Amino acid sequence: MARGPKVIVIGGGTMGSATAWALAARGAAVTVLERFSHVHEYGSHSGFTRITRESYHEGAGYVPLVRRADALWQALGERVGERLLVRTGMVEFGPESDPEYAGAIAACRAAAVAHELMDAAEARRRFPIAVPDGWTACFTPSGGYLRVGPCLEALKREAISLGADWRTGARVREVALGERPRVLLDEGTLLPADQVVVTAGAYLPGLLPGFLPGRLKVLRRVLAWTRPDPLEVPRLAAMPVWAGFTPQGFMYGFPHGDEGVTGFKLACHAPTADPSEAAVDPERVDRSIHPADLAPLAGFLDAYLPAGRGEFVHATVCLYTCTPSTDFVIDRVPGDRRVWVAGGFSGHGFKFAPAIGELVAEAVVTGEAPEALRAFARARHGG
Ligand SMILES: Cc1cc2nc3c(=O)[nH]c(=O)nc-3n(C[C@H](O)[C@H](O)[C@H](O)COP(=O)(O)OP(=O)(O)OC[C@H]3O[C@@H](n4cnc5c(N)ncnc54)[C@H](O)[C@@H]3O)c2cc1C
Repeated sequence: MARGPKVIVIGGGTMGSATAWALAARGAAVTVLERFSHVHEYGSHSGFTRITRESYHEGAGYVPLVRRADALWQALGERVGERLLVRTGMVEFGPESDPEYAGAIAACRAAAVAHELMDAAEARRRFPIAVPDGWTACFTPSGGYLRVGPCLEALKREAISLGADWRTGARVREVALGERPRVLLDEGTLLPADQVVVTAGAYLPGLLPGFLPGRLKVLRRVLAWTRPDPLEVPRLAAMPVWAGFTPQGFMYGFPHGDEGVTGFKLACHAPTADPSEAAVDPERVDRSIHPADLAPLAGFLDAYLPAGRGEFVHATVCLYTCTPSTDFVIDRVPGDRRVWVAGGFSGHGFKFAPAIGELVAEAVVTGEAPEALRAFARARHGG
């Protein structure tokens, strides 16, 4: 039985599931409130798979967090008897003059990440990627992908087995700050708590508009799957997860597989909006797929991965919630020490979930932010 504080977690998606699991493991009495079902298409975890990588072009400072999360995913998978992390290795390619690609290589060197740098001819020999002469490729054996549904199911199941109360179809309308934080559900119930953790993903700016006003941007992104020529499938299925730092943007994808959809999955990772791109409202975002969504992906395949070309058989919309720096924001709400927020995962948060859950749970239970959370303080984002 839980002996610790009564904690409400708002949003049972990626970070909420991980935080609830870590809180329950520390003896907290946890209630998770999720407005949709457990695992759904309306937030930031749709699309069945997520890349994990140590070649962290966003900064070598993230590498220890990737490593901690990797160990936690593996331990969780062993505990629940399910493969959560598929270790394929990761290959990235680009011109070394590209600052982000150079950043990925620099992170490998700075954090002693095992990696192999090769020229274009060697990369073309090993992978079905048309790496242009003059570019290089960097292979990191620690890369791979996480299976979203099994990961989130495992976190939920473990949290419930440790006493967590998990409610789906429970939409929070408001978090009332004051003597004791209270959470108002859509149907009118007011739930008191000792502490509250808000992990509402793309719905965070709507739920807590005062948390980081004007600094969180929700962006619409598209994931797509092709059906390549069957003769190419064995080569594509044997690929590691991959990413190209190209003039068309940071394109990435997975080996050919049947995780949720049978096909060759790819997307463009653009965590900052170009000046012409408007932020979207997650309640009203256009979830239809248009030719303009798929054209850049087809163009990328034509230029660099022709074996992956084929009819698009599926595509889905997913939401990024981006901070200006693309670093996460994990902190208390201003003026209330008992309400924590973990958000702004800027399109690269999934891999970290159990490590983030652990840090947030530690902060909630001890009342002190662990050192590792300092990098994600609200003040760093202009808050
Ligand atoms: C296209 C795409 C590709 C990505 N690829 C990768 C990748 O390869 N590797 C990687 O590491 N990361 C990747 N990410 C990022 C990663 O998936 C996200 O950073 C992560 O899922 C964010 O987790 P979250 O908990 O903030 O959001 P979610 O998982 O969306 O969880 C938020 C939850 O809160 C619930 N909620 C919201 N408001 C309320 C309310 N008022 N009441 C109750 N519940 C509420 C929502 O329904 C939702 O379930 C990708 C993201 C996208 C969109």
